Amino acid sequence: MKKLEEYVRCIPDFPEEGVMFRDVTSVLQDADGLHLAIDTMQELVKDLDFDIVVGPESRGFIFGTPIAYNNHKPFVLIRKKGKLPCETVSMEYELEYGTAVIEIHKDAIMPGQKILIVDDLIATGGTTEAMIRLVESLGGEVVGVVVLMELAGLKGREKLKGYRLESAICYE
Ligand code: IMP
Repeated sequence: MKKLEEYVRCIPDFPEEGVMFRDVTSVLQDADGLHLAIDTMQELVKDLDFDIVVGPESRGFIFGTPIAYNNHKPFVLIRKKGKLPCETVSMEYELEYGTAVIEIHKDAIMPGQKILIVDDLIATGGTTEAMIRLVESLGGEVVGVVVLMELAGLKGREKLKGYRLESAICYE
C-alpha cells in the first residue's frame, strides 16, 4: 500500500519559476489515493464536534463534501464573488498580486453553529484566514480546519493562531 504523499505529483516551476506545485489531481485520479486522502483527513478531526462542513471553491468542495456526507452533516460552499444566487456576505483578502473576494450565503450558518473548514492546501494561510472571518461574521464558531497539504515554509499556521489546524501531509 502506497503512502498518501506518494500520490501527490510535484511539478517544479509551476505556475511560475521557483514554485514547487503540489498537484492534487494525481491523488484524485487514483481510487486508492482518493480513499486514503478522505480517510486520513477525516481521521484527523474525528474527535471534533461540528455541525457544518464549509469548503471553498473549487478543491475544497472535493474534500469537504465526502467528509460532510460521511458524518451526516451539511456542506456549505464558499465561492468567488458573484457566483452564489441568494443573499451573501463577502470577505476581501490579499493575494500575492492584488486582492480576492469570497462569499457565502447569509442563511447558511446560524450564530453558534460549530464549523469545520476543509480545503486542499494551506500555503500562506490568507485564504483560510478569510474563510474564518467570513464564517465568524455570521456568528459561526470555527472548531477546526483540515487540509490535505500544508506548505509549512509559508507559515500559514502562524496566521491561524488559536485555531486547530490539521494537515494530512506537511511539506517543510
Ligand atoms: P494561501 O491563501 O496562500 O494559503 O493559498 C491557498 C490556496 O492556494 C489553496 O486553496 C490552493 O488551491 C492554492 N495553492 C497554493 N499553492 C499550491 C500548490 O502547490 N498546489 C496546489 N494548490 C496551491
